[in-house]
Amino acid sequence: MSKRTNPMAVKSALAYTVEEAANALSKTPATIRNWVKDGLPIMASHKPYLISGAAIREYLRAKRKDAKRPLEPDELYCPACRQGRRPTDMTATLSVLTANTSLLKGICSHCECPCARMISAAKVSEFAGIFIIKKAADSEP
Ligand SMILES: [Zn+2]
Repeated sequence: MSKRTNPMAVKSALAYTVEEAANALSKTPATIRNWVKDGLPIMASHKPYLISGAAIREYLRAKRKDAKRPLEPDELYCPACRQGRRPTDMTATLSVLTANTSLLKGICSHCECPCARMISAAKVSEFAGIFIIKKAADSEP
């Protein structure tokens, strides 16, 4: 997603079809359907279903808030939970990506999906005080 979607582009008192919502927000209908799959509530009593402008605003605001939430020092980012989670057993695997960047990978303690966090090489020792860090096999010299 390149540009932030303006929640004010829809009117909270109106209900929209997928196509109308897509037009109002300058998105494709496929994007709107993805939002519905992602949890945007629909008014299923109508065929084709309608989405209330208020629900779209709420959804977009929640999404933006999620994106802004910074990770706590003891969290990795879980794409399945869409938020920071502690890794299982506080264990993380460290992969060196570049001279300045490393990647911490773990298993989400909440949903057991892979979670990860990019860290600067300068902070590896700091994170070693928080996580039990194992070196990834592929980053051995
Ligand atoms: Zn998770």
